[in-house]
Amino acid sequence: MMSAPETPENEVDRLAELDSFDVLDSLPEQAYDDITMLASQICGTPIALVTFIDRDRQWLKSKVGLDLDESARDVAVCAHAILNPTDVFVVEDLSADARFADNPFVTGEESIRFYAGVALTTASGNALGVLCVIDRVPRRLSTEQAAALRALSRQLIAQLELRRSISLLEAAAGERAQHQEQLENYQRELEATLSVTAEQSITDPLTGVRNRRAFLSRLTEEVDRSNRLGSTFSVAMIDVDRFKSFNDAHGHAAGDVALQQIAEIISHECRSTDLVARYGGEEFVVILTGADLDAALALGERIRRSVEVADWAHRPLTVSVGVASTSGCDDADELVHLADAAMYRAKAAGRNLTFAA
Ligand code: GH3
Ligand code: MG
Ligand code: MG
Repeated sequence: MMSAPETPENEVDRLAELDSFDVLDSLPEQAYDDITMLASQICGTPIALVTFIDRDRQWLKSKVGLDLDESARDVAVCAHAILNPTDVFVVEDLSADARFADNPFVTGEESIRFYAGVALTTASGNALGVLCVIDRVPRRLSTEQAAALRALSRQLIAQLELRRSISLLEAAAGERAQHQEQLENYQRELEATLSVTAEQSITDPLTGVRNRRAFLSRLTEEVDRSNRLGSTFSVAMIDVDRFKSFNDAHGHAAGDVALQQIAEIISHECRSTDLVARYGGEEFVVILTGADLDAALALGERIRRSVEVADWAHRPLTVSVGVASTSGCDDADELVHLADAAMYRAKAAGRNLTFAA
Protein backbone atom coordinates (compact mmCIF):
# COMPACT_ATOMS: atom_id res chain seq x y z
CA MET A 1 0.00 0.00 0.00
CA MET A 2 1.29 3.42 -0.92
CA SER A 3 1.84 5.49 2.22
CA ALA A 4 1.29 9.22 2.22
CA PRO A 5 4.24 11.17 3.64
CA GLU A 6 4.11 12.12 7.28
CA THR A 7 3.94 15.78 8.26
CA PRO A 8 7.16 17.16 9.78
CA GLU A 9 6.95 18.10 13.47
CA ASN A 10 7.93 21.69 12.72
CA GLU A 11 5.42 22.03 9.86
CA VAL A 12 3.93 25.39 10.93
CA ASP A 13 7.34 26.94 11.37
CA ARG A 14 8.58 25.28 8.17
CA LEU A 15 5.72 26.71 6.06
CA ALA A 16 6.20 30.16 7.60
CA GLU A 17 9.88 30.14 6.68
CA LEU A 18 9.14 28.83 3.18
CA ASP A 19 6.72 31.73 2.80
CA SER A 20 9.39 34.20 3.88
CA PHE A 21 11.53 33.25 0.87
CA ASP A 22 8.71 34.10 -1.53
CA VAL A 23 9.93 31.44 -3.94
CA LEU A 24 6.73 29.50 -4.64
CA ASP A 25 5.39 30.10 -8.16
CA SER A 26 8.35 32.32 -9.03
CA LEU A 27 9.81 32.32 -12.54
CA PRO A 28 12.63 29.98 -13.53
CA GLU A 29 16.12 31.28 -12.68
CA GLN A 30 19.44 30.41 -14.24
CA ALA A 31 21.23 29.95 -10.90
CA TYR A 32 18.82 27.17 -9.90
CA ASP A 33 18.80 25.59 -13.35
CA ASP A 34 22.63 25.47 -13.37
CA ILE A 35 22.62 23.54 -10.08
CA THR A 36 19.94 21.11 -11.30
CA MET A 37 21.93 20.50 -14.47
CA LEU A 38 25.11 19.84 -12.44
CA ALA A 39 23.25 17.43 -10.15
CA SER A 40 21.98 15.41 -13.11
CA GLN A 41 25.45 15.31 -14.74
CA ILE A 42 27.34 14.42 -11.57
CA CYS A 43 24.90 11.67 -10.65
CA GLY A 44 24.42 10.53 -14.24
CA THR A 45 20.62 10.59 -14.02
CA PRO A 46 18.23 11.73 -16.77
CA ILE A 47 16.15 13.64 -14.22
CA ALA A 48 17.09 16.22 -11.56
CA LEU A 49 14.71 18.54 -9.72
CA VAL A 50 14.58 21.36 -7.21
CA THR A 51 11.22 21.13 -5.46
CA PHE A 52 9.61 22.97 -2.58
CA ILE A 53 7.03 21.28 -0.39
CA ASP A 54 4.04 23.55 0.09
CA ARG A 55 1.10 22.80 2.39
CA ASP A 56 -0.65 20.46 -0.06
CA ARG A 57 1.63 20.25 -3.07
CA GLN A 58 5.19 19.97 -4.25
CA TRP A 59 6.20 22.80 -6.57
CA LEU A 60 9.12 22.52 -8.95
CA LYS A 61 11.46 25.51 -9.06
CA SER A 62 13.83 23.87 -11.51
CA LYS A 63 13.84 20.62 -13.50
CA VAL A 64 15.84 18.57 -15.96
CA GLY A 65 14.25 15.64 -17.81
CA LEU A 66 10.73 15.90 -16.37
CA ASP A 67 7.85 17.96 -17.71
CA LEU A 68 6.04 18.80 -14.48
CA ASP A 69 5.25 22.03 -12.60
CA GLU A 70 3.71 20.60 -9.45
CA SER A 71 2.01 17.54 -8.00
CA ALA A 72 -0.04 16.64 -4.96
CA ARG A 73 2.06 16.42 -1.80
CA ASP A 74 0.66 12.92 -1.08
CA VAL A 75 2.36 11.38 -4.11
CA ALA A 76 5.59 13.37 -3.85
CA VAL A 77 8.63 11.27 -3.00
CA CYS A 78 10.30 14.56 -2.04
CA ALA A 79 7.71 15.00 0.72
CA HIS A 80 9.32 11.90 2.29
CA ALA A 81 12.83 13.28 1.73
CA ILE A 82 12.17 16.41 3.79
CA LEU A 83 11.38 14.26 6.84
CA ASN A 84 15.10 13.66 6.95
CA PRO A 85 16.63 17.15 6.93
CA THR A 86 20.29 16.11 7.22
CA ASP A 87 20.85 12.80 5.38
CA VAL A 88 20.59 11.96 1.71
CA PHE A 89 17.31 10.12 1.15
CA VAL A 90 18.01 7.27 -1.25
CA VAL A 91 15.61 4.66 -2.65
CA GLU A 92 17.46 2.44 -5.09
CA ASP A 93 14.30 0.83 -6.48
CA LEU A 94 11.02 2.55 -5.74
CA SER A 95 9.02 -0.37 -7.19
CA ALA A 96 10.54 -2.62 -4.54
CA ASP A 97 9.70 -0.26 -1.68
CA ALA A 98 6.29 -0.68 -0.05
CA ARG A 99 5.95 3.09 0.41
CA PHE A 100 6.28 3.77 -3.32
CA ALA A 101 5.45 0.57 -5.22
CA ASP A 102 1.98 1.82 -6.20
CA ASN A 103 2.95 5.51 -6.47
CA PRO A 104 1.59 6.88 -9.77
CA PHE A 105 5.05 8.21 -10.71
CA VAL A 106 6.31 4.63 -10.39
CA THR A 107 3.37 2.80 -11.93
CA GLY A 108 2.44 5.45 -14.45
CA GLU A 109 3.92 6.89 -17.63
CA GLU A 110 7.00 8.39 -15.92
CA SER A 111 7.84 4.97 -14.53
CA ILE A 112 10.57 6.16 -12.17
CA ARG A 113 12.69 3.69 -10.18
CA PHE A 114 15.65 5.39 -8.54
CA TYR A 115 15.45 8.40 -6.24
CA ALA A 116 18.11 10.30 -4.26
CA GLY A 117 17.29 13.64 -2.61
CA VAL A 118 18.93 16.07 -0.20
CA ALA A 119 16.65 18.32 1.80
CA LEU A 120 17.11 22.08 1.40
CA THR A 121 17.48 22.75 5.10
CA THR A 122 17.80 26.29 6.43
CA ALA A 123 19.95 27.45 9.35
CA SER A 124 16.85 27.17 11.57
CA GLY A 125 16.54 23.50 10.65
CA ASN A 126 13.50 23.73 8.40
CA ALA A 127 13.58 21.47 5.33
CA LEU A 128 11.81 23.59 2.73
CA GLY A 129 12.29 21.38 -0.29
CA VAL A 130 14.63 18.95 -1.97
CA LEU A 131 17.34 18.75 -4.59
CA CYS A 132 16.86 15.29 -6.08
CA VAL A 133 18.09 13.10 -8.90
CA ILE A 134 15.82 10.44 -10.43
CA ASP A 135 16.31 7.62 -12.89
CA ARG A 136 13.99 5.22 -14.68
CA VAL A 137 16.12 2.26 -13.78
CA PRO A 138 17.20 1.09 -10.30
CA ARG A 139 20.70 2.23 -9.33
CA ARG A 140 22.96 3.26 -6.46
CA LEU A 141 24.46 6.57 -5.38
CA SER A 142 28.22 6.73 -4.77
CA THR A 143 29.67 8.45 -1.70
CA GLU A 144 31.13 11.15 -3.96
CA GLN A 145 27.78 11.72 -5.67
CA ALA A 146 26.05 11.99 -2.27
CA ALA A 147 28.66 14.52 -1.15
CA ALA A 148 28.15 16.50 -4.36
CA LEU A 149 24.37 16.55 -3.83
CA ARG A 150 24.88 17.89 -0.32
CA ALA A 151 27.25 20.59 -1.58
CA LEU A 152 24.79 21.61 -4.28
CA SER A 153 21.92 21.77 -1.80
CA ARG A 154 23.98 24.15 0.35
CA GLN A 155 24.41 26.32 -2.76
CA LEU A 156 20.64 26.31 -3.26
CA ILE A 157 20.06 27.49 0.32
CA ALA A 158 22.66 30.23 -0.25
CA GLN A 159 20.81 31.29 -3.42
CA LEU A 160 17.51 31.43 -1.54
CA GLU A 161 18.98 33.50 1.27
CA LEU A 162 20.73 35.84 -1.16
CA ARG A 163 17.47 36.50 -2.98
CA ARG A 164 15.61 37.12 0.27
CA SER A 165 18.30 39.60 1.42
CA ILE A 166 18.10 41.43 -1.90
CA SER A 167 14.34 41.75 -1.78
CA LEU A 168 14.47 42.91 1.87
CA LEU A 169 17.06 45.51 0.88
CA GLU A 170 14.91 46.61 -2.04
CA ALA A 171 11.88 46.94 0.21
CA ALA A 172 13.92 48.96 2.71
CA ALA A 173 15.21 51.19 -0.08
CA GLY A 174 11.66 51.72 -1.32
CA GLU A 175 10.52 52.59 2.17
CA ARG A 176 13.41 55.00 2.57
CA ALA A 177 12.53 56.68 -0.72
CA GLN A 178 8.95 56.99 0.50
CA HIS A 179 10.06 58.54 3.80
CA GLN A 180 12.33 60.89 1.88
CA GLU A 181 9.42 62.00 -0.28
CA GLN A 182 7.21 62.49 2.77
CA LEU A 183 9.95 64.54 4.40
CA GLU A 184 10.27 66.71 1.30
CA ASN A 185 6.49 67.26 1.28
CA TYR A 186 6.57 68.37 4.92
CA GLN A 187 9.51 70.62 4.07
CA ARG A 188 7.60 72.24 1.21
CA GLU A 189 4.49 72.72 3.37
CA LEU A 190 6.61 74.23 6.11
CA GLU A 191 8.31 76.58 3.70
CA ALA A 192 4.95 77.64 2.27
CA THR A 193 3.61 78.23 5.79
CA LEU A 194 6.73 80.15 6.72
CA SER A 195 6.55 82.34 3.66
CA VAL A 196 2.87 83.10 4.35
CA THR A 197 3.75 83.86 7.97
CA ALA A 198 6.67 86.03 6.89
CA GLU A 199 4.39 87.90 4.48
CA GLN A 200 1.76 88.33 7.22
CA SER A 201 4.35 89.65 9.66
CA ILE A 202 5.12 92.62 7.41
CA THR A 203 1.61 93.31 6.09
CA ASP A 204 -1.19 95.43 7.48
CA PRO A 205 -4.21 93.09 7.54
CA LEU A 206 -6.84 95.75 6.77
CA THR A 207 -5.25 97.51 3.81
CA GLY A 208 -2.68 95.00 2.53
CA VAL A 209 0.14 97.59 2.50
CA ARG A 210 3.22 97.12 4.70
CA ASN A 211 2.81 97.54 8.45
CA ARG A 212 4.63 99.93 10.76
CA ARG A 213 7.31 97.36 11.65
CA ALA A 214 8.17 96.79 7.98
CA PHE A 215 8.35 100.56 7.51
CA LEU A 216 10.72 101.07 10.47
CA SER A 217 13.02 98.26 9.37
CA ARG A 218 13.21 99.58 5.80
CA LEU A 219 13.71 103.12 7.12
CA THR A 220 16.76 101.99 9.12
CA GLU A 221 18.19 100.30 6.02
CA GLU A 222 17.63 103.38 3.87
CA VAL A 223 19.23 105.72 6.44
CA ASP A 224 22.28 103.40 6.68
CA ARG A 225 22.62 103.27 2.92
CA SER A 226 22.16 107.01 2.64
CA ASN A 227 24.88 107.63 5.27
CA ARG A 228 27.28 105.24 3.54
CA LEU A 229 26.69 106.29 -0.07
CA GLY A 230 25.50 109.86 0.38
CA SER A 231 22.32 108.95 -1.53
CA THR A 232 19.03 110.76 -1.02
CA PHE A 233 15.56 109.41 -0.12
CA SER A 234 12.42 110.97 1.28
CA VAL A 235 9.53 110.18 3.59
CA ALA A 236 5.90 111.27 3.14
CA MET A 237 3.41 111.25 6.05
CA ILE A 238 -0.23 111.12 4.99
CA ASP A 239 -3.08 111.61 7.48
CA VAL A 240 -6.76 111.42 6.65
CA ASP A 241 -8.58 114.67 7.41
CA ARG A 242 -11.41 114.68 9.92
CA PHE A 243 -11.68 110.94 9.80
CA LYS A 244 -13.25 110.74 13.24
CA SER A 245 -16.34 112.52 11.99
CA PHE A 246 -16.44 110.25 8.90
CA ASN A 247 -16.51 107.23 11.22
CA ASP A 248 -19.09 108.84 13.44
CA ALA A 249 -21.35 109.64 10.51
CA HIS A 250 -21.02 106.46 8.42
CA GLY A 251 -19.83 103.79 10.80
CA HIS A 252 -16.57 102.04 11.47
CA ALA A 253 -17.06 99.49 8.67
CA ALA A 254 -17.45 102.26 6.07
CA GLY A 255 -14.35 103.85 7.63
CA ASP A 256 -12.43 100.61 7.07
CA VAL A 257 -13.44 100.52 3.41
CA ALA A 258 -12.35 104.14 3.02
CA LEU A 259 -8.94 103.31 4.53
CA GLN A 260 -8.57 100.46 2.04
CA GLN A 261 -9.41 102.82 -0.80
CA ILE A 262 -6.88 105.41 0.38
CA ALA A 263 -4.17 102.73 0.67
CA GLU A 264 -4.94 101.73 -2.93
CA ILE A 265 -4.73 105.31 -4.18
CA ILE A 266 -1.38 105.86 -2.44
CA SER A 267 0.04 102.57 -3.78
CA HIS A 268 -1.15 103.44 -7.26
CA GLU A 269 0.73 106.77 -7.20
CA CYS A 270 3.99 105.23 -5.94
CA ARG A 271 6.71 103.32 -7.77
CA SER A 272 7.37 99.65 -7.06
CA THR A 273 10.69 100.58 -5.43
CA ASP A 274 8.88 102.82 -2.93
CA LEU A 275 7.49 101.39 0.29
CA VAL A 276 3.91 102.19 1.31
CA ALA A 277 2.95 101.42 4.92
CA ARG A 278 0.16 102.03 7.37
CA TYR A 279 1.83 103.99 10.12
CA GLY A 280 -1.14 104.03 12.52
CA GLY A 281 -4.96 104.29 12.56
CA GLU A 282 -5.65 106.60 9.63
CA GLU A 283 -2.05 107.55 8.93
CA PHE A 284 0.06 106.23 6.07
CA VAL A 285 3.73 106.69 5.30
CA VAL A 286 5.78 106.30 2.12
CA ILE A 287 9.54 105.83 1.71
CA LEU A 288 10.56 107.25 -1.66
CA THR A 289 13.89 105.75 -2.66
CA GLY A 290 16.17 108.08 -4.63
CA ALA A 291 13.71 111.01 -4.33
CA ASP A 292 14.81 114.48 -3.20
CA LEU A 293 12.51 116.95 -1.46
CA ASP A 294 11.09 118.36 -4.72
CA ALA A 295 10.26 114.91 -6.04
CA ALA A 296 8.70 113.98 -2.69
CA LEU A 297 6.63 117.18 -2.69
CA ALA A 298 5.43 116.38 -6.21
CA LEU A 299 4.41 112.86 -5.19
CA GLY A 300 2.69 114.16 -2.02
CA GLU A 301 0.68 116.53 -4.17
CA ARG A 302 -0.29 113.78 -6.60
CA ILE A 303 -1.54 111.62 -3.73
CA ARG A 304 -3.42 114.51 -2.10
CA ARG A 305 -5.05 115.37 -5.43
CA SER A 306 -5.97 111.73 -6.26
CA VAL A 307 -7.69 111.33 -2.89
CA GLU A 308 -9.54 114.62 -3.36
CA VAL A 309 -10.96 113.65 -6.76
CA ALA A 310 -11.60 109.97 -5.98
CA ASP A 311 -15.10 108.55 -6.19
CA TRP A 312 -16.22 108.33 -2.55
CA ALA A 313 -19.23 106.34 -1.39
CA HIS A 314 -20.47 108.64 1.38
CA ARG A 315 -18.73 111.97 1.27
CA PRO A 316 -15.44 113.22 -0.16
CA LEU A 317 -12.33 112.51 1.89
CA THR A 318 -9.07 114.43 1.84
CA VAL A 319 -5.60 113.93 3.25
CA SER A 320 -2.91 116.21 4.60
CA VAL A 321 0.67 115.37 3.58
CA GLY A 322 4.05 116.27 5.06
CA VAL A 323 7.33 115.33 3.31
CA ALA A 324 10.95 115.38 4.50
CA SER A 325 14.19 114.39 2.75
CA THR A 326 17.53 112.99 3.92
CA SER A 327 19.50 115.96 2.65
CA GLY A 328 19.85 117.81 5.93
CA CYS A 329 19.01 114.79 8.10
CA ASP A 330 20.86 111.53 8.73
CA ASP A 331 18.73 110.14 11.55
CA ALA A 332 15.65 107.93 11.04
CA ASP A 333 13.63 109.28 14.00
CA GLU A 334 14.46 112.84 13.06
CA LEU A 335 13.32 112.28 9.46
CA VAL A 336 9.95 110.87 10.58
CA HIS A 337 9.58 113.70 13.06
CA LEU A 338 10.25 116.30 10.32
CA ALA A 339 7.67 114.75 7.95
CA ASP A 340 5.16 114.54 10.80
CA ALA A 341 5.73 118.16 11.74
CA ALA A 342 5.25 119.24 8.09
CA MET A 343 2.01 117.24 7.96
CA TYR A 344 0.70 118.98 11.14
CA ARG A 345 1.51 122.37 9.63
CA ALA A 346 -0.61 121.31 6.62
CA LYS A 347 -3.43 120.49 9.05
CA ALA A 348 -3.02 123.83 10.80
CA ALA A 349 -3.03 125.64 7.45
CA GLY A 350 -6.48 124.25 6.65
CA ARG A 351 -5.97 120.53 5.65
CA ASN A 352 -6.01 118.96 2.14
CA LEU A 353 -2.52 120.42 1.65
CA THR A 354 1.03 119.10 1.08
CA PHE A 355 3.87 120.71 3.06
CA ALA A 356 7.62 120.11 2.95
CA ALA A 357 9.86 120.14 6.03
P1 GH3 B 1 -7.56 115.24 11.70
O1 GH3 B 1 -8.00 115.86 10.43
O2 GH3 B 1 -7.07 116.24 12.71
O3 GH3 B 1 -6.59 114.16 11.47
O4 GH3 B 1 -8.89 114.61 12.34
P2 GH3 B 1 -9.18 113.12 12.56
O5 GH3 B 1 -10.60 113.00 12.97
O6 GH3 B 1 -8.82 112.37 11.35
O7 GH3 B 1 -8.19 112.78 13.69
P3 GH3 B 1 -8.33 111.98 15.04
O8 GH3 B 1 -6.95 111.61 15.44
O9 GH3 B 1 -9.14 112.80 15.99
O10 GH3 B 1 -9.18 110.75 14.71
C1 GH3 B 1 -8.68 109.68 13.94
C2 GH3 B 1 -9.80 108.70 13.73
O11 GH3 B 1 -9.43 107.63 12.88
C3 GH3 B 1 -10.28 108.11 15.01
C4 GH3 B 1 -10.54 106.68 14.72
O12 GH3 B 1 -11.85 106.30 14.94
C5 GH3 B 1 -10.24 106.55 13.25
N1 GH3 B 1 -9.57 105.31 12.97
C6 GH3 B 1 -8.31 104.96 13.34
N2 GH3 B 1 -8.05 103.72 12.93
C7 GH3 B 1 -9.17 103.24 12.29
C8 GH3 B 1 -9.54 102.04 11.65
O13 GH3 B 1 -8.77 101.06 11.58
N3 GH3 B 1 -10.75 101.92 11.10
C9 GH3 B 1 -11.63 102.96 11.15
N4 GH3 B 1 -12.82 102.81 10.58
N5 GH3 B 1 -11.33 104.08 11.76
C10 GH3 B 1 -10.13 104.28 12.32
MG1 MG C 1 -4.15 110.88 12.81
MG1 MG D 1 -6.75 112.39 10.85
